[in-house]
Amino acid sequence: MWRHSEHYLTIMTPEQLIALDQQHVWHPYASMDNPPPAYPVASAHGVRLTLADGTQLIDGMASWWCAVHGYNHPHLNAAMTKQIADMSHVMFGGITHVPAVTLAKRLVDMTPAGLEKVFFADSGSVAVEVAIKMALQYWHSKGQTNKQKLVTIRNGYHGDTFGAMAVCDPVNGMHSLFAGVLPQHHFIAAPPMGFDRPLETVDLDELESTLQQHQNELAALILEPIVQGAGGMRFYSPAWLKAAADLCKQYNVLLIADEIATGFGRSGALFACDHADVSPDIMCLGKAITGGTMSFAATLTTTEIATSISRGEASCFMHGPTFMANPLACAVANASLDLLEQTDWKAQVNGLNQALKQQLEPALALEYVEDVRVLGAIGVVQVTDPVDLGKIQKMLVDEGVWVRPFGKLVYVMPPYVMSPQDLALLCQGMLRALATYFKEPHDPTH
Ligand SMILES: *Cc1c(COP(=O)(O)O)cnc(C)c1O
Repeated sequence: MWRHSEHYLTIMTPEQLIALDQQHVWHPYASMDNPPPAYPVASAHGVRLTLADGTQLIDGMASWWCAVHGYNHPHLNAAMTKQIADMSHVMFGGITHVPAVTLAKRLVDMTPAGLEKVFFADSGSVAVEVAIKMALQYWHSKGQTNKQKLVTIRNGYHGDTFGAMAVCDPVNGMHSLFAGVLPQHHFIAAPPMGFDRPLETVDLDELESTLQQHQNELAALILEPIVQGAGGMRFYSPAWLKAAADLCKQYNVLLIADEIATGFGRSGALFACDHADVSPDIMCLGKAITGGTMSFAATLTTTEIATSISRGEASCFMHGPTFMANPLACAVANASLDLLEQTDWKAQVNGLNQALKQQLEPALALEYVEDVRVLGAIGVVQVTDPVDLGKIQKMLVDEGVWVRPFGKLVYVMPPYVMSPQDLALLCQGMLRALATYFKEPHDPTH
């Protein structure tokens, strides 16, 4: 029997909630066959999540790069409340509104020069689909209908829809499962690791030979600039990015910068492309764009690309999501930009950077730690063996921290507003959980 949600709220204990969740609700990349229990969160405030049983956890994940200003921020809440009173949503076909226009203008002003046309979508993966379609439609409008393939770097992550999945790392992204339906693109080795690593000419050889050989069928190079996120938490040098961007120009291939994880300051620059002074032809934004409140994304491109697409066979760009430029999301995105401007995000990120280095680098001495790397407000501890997530998750929660490792990567990208005291608690909790985990014997097959 269908019941009112209030009814459930009054009768459900945390245990019942977890049991129903396991029975009916799918979680990200999760099994539904005896799924591990999820932690019920009752509320979130500042840098802390409060579980249903009252336990507080310091949040090291910023809800996957998003909640840069912390949770429940009064300025973001006020912007949403005000917008709800005007309109939560209205279709975008033939209609426009102040939140969308204001946001577009602000994004154009803050992103690298040349990006002047903004397409709003509802999630990062869709922004990537839009970027790929823009590149293909651009070349089509130029009469270069063979330019339909992409080139990308291994260890990438661009989202879970089909177009995006086809440029994710083929191994991590389990391309073999979808071999029959995924478009086949060109993959080159990821750039060598290290933000400060000096560039050697051989580092660009594979990209150059691929561009040279396939330029007539290549529409774009798509990559995550400087920081490869979910595909391996790897950092590479601005010099490589700059050289890659130059090669794209030389071989008449567009550059798509997927800044969905890196955008809005996370890497220490407002956009990761800024480290290399690179203006991509197309840029994808998402995640932190609404300060962690709502699903929203944007794809920006140049006037040349937008105009050319619009003069092509279709006379328009062939995409238009139902919730395009959702006013509520635009309003809170504007409020999030207010906070970035007002709070000196750069000082916050630099402060976190120093503290993360200080807290995490000593872990390099531990036998189960393979590497420690820190860039901007991102700290990564790479361990020697892939961790058993269910096991280590509980140890992390027992230490009072919310960190969600994958494989050998135990990493944090905290809200920018985290105090030095809380950051120390977070890092110490994470390292203590790792110590506990690696003290116990493990079945290496798990
Ligand atoms: C998260 C992410 C995406 C996908 O965004 P969703 O909102 O999850 O669809 C795409 N690219 C990068 C670099 C990301 O980090």
